[in-house]
Amino acid sequence: MARFKRILLKLSGESLMGEQGHGIDPQRLADYARQIEEVHRMGVQIGIVIGGGNIFRGLSGSQKGFDRVKGDQMGMCATVINSLALSSALGAIGVKNKVLTAIRMEPIGEFYSKWKAIEAMEAGYVCIFSAGTGSPYFTTDTGSSLRGIEIEADVMLKGTRVDGIYTADPEKDPSATKFTTITYDEVYTRGLKVMDLTATAMCKENNLPIYVFNMDIYGNLKRVMDGEDIGTLVHN
Ligand code: UDP
Repeated sequence: MARFKRILLKLSGESLMGEQGHGIDPQRLADYARQIEEVHRMGVQIGIVIGGGNIFRGLSGSQKGFDRVKGDQMGMCATVINSLALSSALGAIGVKNKVLTAIRMEPIGEFYSKWKAIEAMEAGYVCIFSAGTGSPYFTTDTGSSLRGIEIEADVMLKGTRVDGIYTADPEKDPSATKFTTITYDEVYTRGLKVMDLTATAMCKENNLPIYVFNMDIYGNLKRVMDGEDIGTLVHN
C-alpha cells in the first residue's frame, strides 16, 4: 500500500542538468521517469510540476537587463520545455501522461483545469502541469502549491538534491542537523530556505503537507511512498 493516494511531485529544473551542468541530462531525465513509473505502478495518482531554472529564470534575466515580465514569461516557457522532455521520457517507458499548460498553447499541451487534471489522473494518466501559475513574479514552487491544493493532493513531494531540511545549509555547515518533521511556522521563524514564502504560506493556509527528500538518489521516490522516513515532513 502506498503511503499517499494522490501526490504533487515538484522537481527542480536545475537538477535536470545532472552531471553535465547545463540543459537537460538524458540520464537524469530517464532516472526521474523510471522513478515515477515505479510509483505509478503502485496505483498512485501523480501530478508533477517541473521548474525551468536549468534554462532561464526571470529574476536573473532582469539583473542582466531583461524586462522582468518578459523574463518570467521566458522562464515559464522553460518549464514547458522541461515538461515536454519529461513527458517524452515517460512515454518512452509506457507511462500514459498529459502535459497541461497554465497558458493556452495547444497543441503543445491542453489548457489546464482542475477537473481535466483530476479526470486524467483518475484514468491513470500522469499529469505534468507546466508554465507554473501562468503569471509573472511567481515561481514553480508557488505553482506546485497551487496545483497541489487544487487537485486535492495528499502531499507535495519536493524532490531536491539534499535529503531533507537542516538547521543550516549542510553543504556549508557540517554541524547542521536534520529535522524529521517541522512546522511551517518554524520554517519561517528560523528563516530556513525550503520554498519561497508565498508557496510556504499557501501550503500552510490550505493544510498541504510538504515532504522534502533527495530525488537524485535512484529509488527514493518509491522509498517515500513505501513509508520510509528518508526526508523531512513540513506540517501545521
Ligand atoms: N515563473 C513565473 N511564474 C510561475 C512559475 C515560474 O514567472 O508561476 C518563471 C520565473 O521566471 C522562474 C522561472 O519561470 O524563475 C523558472 O521557474 P523556477 O525558478 O521556479 O524553476 P526551478 O528553480 O524550480 O528550476
